[in-house]
Amino acid sequence: MRRLSFLFALCALSASGQASPVVTAVKAGRLLDVAAQKVRENVVIVVENGRIKELAASVPAGAAVIDLSGKTVLPGFIDAHTHVLLQGDATAEDYDAQLLKESLPYRALRATRAMAIALGHGFTTLRDIGNEGGGFVDVDLKRAVAAGVVSGPRLFVATKALAPTGAYGLAGYAWELDVPKGVEMCDGADACRRAVRDQIAHGADWIKVYADRSYYKQPDGQIRSLPNFTLEEMTAIVDQAHRTRRKVAAHSITPTGHAIALAAGVDSIEHGNVLDDATIAAMAARKVVLCPTLTVSAFVAGPRSATNPIWSDLYEAAKDSVRRAHKAGVPIAVGTDAGGFDWDKRNQAEEFRRYVELGMTPWEALRSGTIVAAALLGQEGSLGVIAPGARADLVGLQEDPLQDITATERVSFVMKDGVVVR
Ligand SMILES: [Zn+2]
Repeated sequence: MRRLSFLFALCALSASGQASPVVTAVKAGRLLDVAAQKVRENVVIVVENGRIKELAASVPAGAAVIDLSGKTVLPGFIDAHTHVLLQGDATAEDYDAQLLKESLPYRALRATRAMAIALGHGFTTLRDIGNEGGGFVDVDLKRAVAAGVVSGPRLFVATKALAPTGAYGLAGYAWELDVPKGVEMCDGADACRRAVRDQIAHGADWIKVYADRSYYKQPDGQIRSLPNFTLEEMTAIVDQAHRTRRKVAAHSITPTGHAIALAAGVDSIEHGNVLDDATIAAMAARKVVLCPTLTVSAFVAGPRSATNPIWSDLYEAAKDSVRRAHKAGVPIAVGTDAGGFDWDKRNQAEEFRRYVELGMTPWEALRSGTIVAAALLGQEGSLGVIAPGARADLVGLQEDPLQDITATERVSFVMKDGVVVR
């Protein structure tokens, strides 16, 4: 990875000694307006105090100039499903080793590297949903980024995530050992409500629940799973989150999980590998967002199928589900499950081309990783757009992603909050 460098100070001293904002003018040769789905040429993006002040025809007097006249400029990318505290878990052994052999400080250090990689790839915002046994370290990471202690994407964090007793690793160890758990376990509506309150009290922006597990094929060929929470528990979780102004993301792979998650009113379905028609209709009607995480499904299919072929079936099912969900009008936000795959082995931007392969236009894929994800985060107008008032998060590409969507995997310029980071 190239070293991240801060090229521009946010403020300078004026002649009177008062701090005055530095105005930066980014000259964009081509600007992709993802909201209007229009290409605009030779636009000057005027940046002040980390935000976009205006889109102009010429450089304002006294502004520092960044010349991207040879590039295509887009809003910074958003990945709505990541785990910065995880460094790849193709198999259960990989996962267990991280929780058993790595201290939380060491995992936090590795997370800062993961964040640097993501930012270098143009992802200026992450919804990091579940820290896999990391206590509240993700709240600290978010704080460190916001305070400028480390450079990284802006984080929206879910802290510990929730599953009932016995529904999540680590598992399979001698019973007298007290091994760490990758989630917070709660049972019964009251206990789950208390867990939600505690996570929010410690800084959770989102609540993450695991709706199902243990995927299997029925005699009729349909893939189903074991449900985790009861409807009563899931409803308590969602109700408590919503009454505290938080949204709920549900890991849910098959209709077994979707039925309970949707009945309880979750805001997003994570993975959603197996979407039946009833699930798709319900999600489209209520605008429940799908985060497909195809990149991780592709990554784990090989290694995990060595012990259980269901993982290959789940990858194939996921592609079919995305194609049908998109056609039916389900909002789809880029979510990759980065951390489930090693941050340095795959560029999470490959999720874009996977959507195009499954029927999205390049514009639609770009919207998934910008304005759709921003809306999911409740950040309409602030993130995912290049418009006055929005955060100055920009990505510059040498090539045209409308012609070749894989251009998103070759980012050559990144600005976050008005600061050039690549
Ligand atoms: Zn995940």
